[in-house]
Amino acid sequence: MRLPSSLRALAESLAKLPSIGPRQAIRLALHVSSLPREKQQALLGALGELSRVSRCVECGFPHEVSGDRCEICADPNRSARTVMVVEKETDLLSLEKVGRYAGRYLVIGSLPRGGTLSPEQQQVLARRAKMAQDAGGLDELILAVSATVAGEHLAGAVTAAMGGAARKVTKLGRGLPRGGEIEFADEDTLGYSLDSRH
Ligand SMILES: [Zn+2]
Repeated sequence: MRLPSSLRALAESLAKLPSIGPRQAIRLALHVSSLPREKQQALLGALGELSRVSRCVECGFPHEVSGDRCEICADPNRSARTVMVVEKETDLLSLEKVGRYAGRYLVIGSLPRGGTLSPEQQQVLARRAKMAQDAGGLDELILAVSATVAGEHLAGAVTAAMGGAARKVTKLGRGLPRGGEIEFADEDTLGYSLDSRH
């Protein structure tokens, strides 16, 4: 007995998402197929809305405002002379919740398994470094990467690619648990590690 082809196709698409295995993908596809029609339509509608989302040319965060910059990068009250490099969009969201940072961001992605930056990441960093240099350089480049070995390597690679465009390169300070991820740190911890950056 095999699943109908439409269900198999959905499961195959779902299995391509991060941290979803083939068996879980089938369970999800079965679940979606059993939803009432209006819930399926709502899901379809939400997916359709994604066509309005593009990536900010400056930081890489998704946005749907007109223009090519996100809310943060288009905000004149946020200093363009300080850039904080984060691995994931969810790290940016956690750091924004602290409400204490008034600079810009750059979402770079995690270091690939091989331990070297992907060509796309190198391009992003080179473009952002040039953008910063053209604007007279950065006062501070903050590395807000996970306190893991991979995070350390990523910090080194980002410094090599962009450090030349900044007067000072700092890292988030104490408080982040060793191996801990920024996304999961609470606001007090993140605020403390922002204040104690060095
Ligand atoms: Zn942006």
